Amino acid sequence: MKCALCSKEAVIYLPYAGSSFCESHFTERFERVVKKEVRDQIRFRSNSGRISVALSGGKDSSVTLYSVASILGKRKNVTVTAFTVDEGIRGYRDRSIETARKLCSSLGIDHEVISYSEVFDTTMDDQVIAGLNGKSPCAICGPMRRQLINMAADRTGSDYVALGMNSDDIAQSVLMNVSRGDLDRLIRMAPHRASIPGLIPRVTPLRSLSEREVLLYAMLKEIPHDSGWCPYYSQAQRNLFRSVIDQIEEKYPGSKLAMGKMQVEVRKAVFQEKEISIDRCRKCGMPSSSELCSVCRNSGAA
Ligand SMILES: [Zn+2]
Ligand SMILES: [Zn+2]
Repeated sequence: MKCALCSKEAVIYLPYAGSSFCESHFTERFERVVKKEVRDQIRFRSNSGRISVALSGGKDSSVTLYSVASILGKRKNVTVTAFTVDEGIRGYRDRSIETARKLCSSLGIDHEVISYSEVFDTTMDDQVIAGLNGKSPCAICGPMRRQLINMAADRTGSDYVALGMNSDDIAQSVLMNVSRGDLDRLIRMAPHRASIPGLIPRVTPLRSLSEREVLLYAMLKEIPHDSGWCPYYSQAQRNLFRSVIDQIEEKYPGSKLAMGKMQVEVRKAVFQEKEISIDRCRKCGMPSSSELCSVCRNSGAA
């Protein structure tokens, strides 16, 4: 298999592009795609600002930090920082925090840890032992993590917070929201442009690149990342959507990207029709689309 652009041996075949690429043309293409996303999604006022990367230590967020640092880090008036949310999962998060620290120090990026124990006075290990109020671990953890991502970005005065979502993640979320008929959730997906007070806009620089590409890029660039899985990962539902999406993509290459693009298009169309508003949780005051935020609802607050 030869590269479509030169005579070298290819390292990857991308069905949706209908081409194979050698190492240097693959990385060149990858970086061009990320650069375009960064340019489209991030607009600093007066060309100065701050962006924080939510760094779990996994391949996606590690590549996101590496890319954002190399694209924006050189700009004079732009500061790139990173943080890791510590859910309190022994044997898993403690390891990936170390990996995250190493990556940040090698890139010269400030790194902070924000933890469930410090903010919510609990850990995921404790929650699991306590029985999770009968919910799945991810249903409890997700809203807490989202709040801490926002809080950490807010604390550092960031204009944007970057997440590691790739085109596989985006397509899965789109289909999940569509199949639930949840239009509000669909249009609230990142990337966000408008800044709502108290809610830092989330951006997704890797949204047009597949999981395979992100993994290969991480390996070729030797970007340190942790490949461990959360021991509580039990999103049977997401796994079903993953396999359905993979089957669709195999038969109709480009479907994943198309779903991500459609989400952005739907949002544009809806925004012309209705104003989206974010309120605050009556109990804890965090940004919330309903009277009580998901964290307070999950903890049984009235
Ligand atoms: Zn080539
Ligand atoms: Zn709340």
